[in-house]
Amino acid sequence: MVRIGIILFFLCLFQTTGLYAQSYTFQQESLPCLQKKFTIVAHIFKDPTGKYGVTEQSILDAIKGVNTFFAPICVSYEVCAFKYHDNFQHDSVSIDEPGISNEIRKLYHEDFRINLYFVSFIPDFCGFAAGTHNDAFTSGIFIKKDCITTRTISHELGHFFTLSHTFEGNGAELVNGANCLTEGDQICDTPADPYKALDPLPAYVENCKFIFGGQDANGEYYNPDLGNIMSYYECDTCGFTWGQLKKMADAYLAGAVKLW
Ligand SMILES: [Zn+2]
Repeated sequence: MVRIGIILFFLCLFQTTGLYAQSYTFQQESLPCLQKKFTIVAHIFKDPTGKYGVTEQSILDAIKGVNTFFAPICVSYEVCAFKYHDNFQHDSVSIDEPGISNEIRKLYHEDFRINLYFVSFIPDFCGFAAGTHNDAFTSGIFIKKDCITTRTISHELGHFFTLSHTFEGNGAELVNGANCLTEGDQICDTPADPYKALDPLPAYVENCKFIFGGQDANGEYYNPDLGNIMSYYECDTCGFTWGQLKKMADAYLAGAVKLW
């Protein structure tokens, strides 16, 4: 199903600098409408001191915000269950050493649902997605308990529905967009972004103003979208672009697996 004529206008106002960032305008554009409510199972692990360390309300509040970002493709999320797990050794996972996260997914995964695992420790990152919507029996999203925000959960769901970071390729995408289909995140309405994962953010942004002086292969200065959910800039969150929403919707519609 296609919905035409959606007018969405997200405007990010950077109050600290007085500058207006990119505005997200999907005027007269069509996006697939999935009419889909995905069910989330929220797994919460006990920490080594015996506490779970999160409130169900904080997760529900974050998901409420997530739903606004996915609304343009008629997607929403509902937490159907909170599951509490007592093994504190599962309260710490790492992208680099996937042994524990694999074990967790094997033990607790609920098939055909989106499994969110809330843990106290993930080195270097606020979260990561293991697998995509097409892995109905194994996929899972890990979120650090002190990163339970709309932005973090939306970001990981973006990966879950096949999105890359805006900085994929670390600036190989040209500022003029000439290679936007094959470089970067391969989405043309997200500007080229030179960020490198784990680089200190102050080298790129100051008070949510982009200060990085590097240039692309043509000698042009980058002007990435600091508010994009799939970027790492911790500035105001504007949401997904039209191209990102389209890619997620198309991926799900084309996928072999339909989640509950
Ligand atoms: Zn990411």
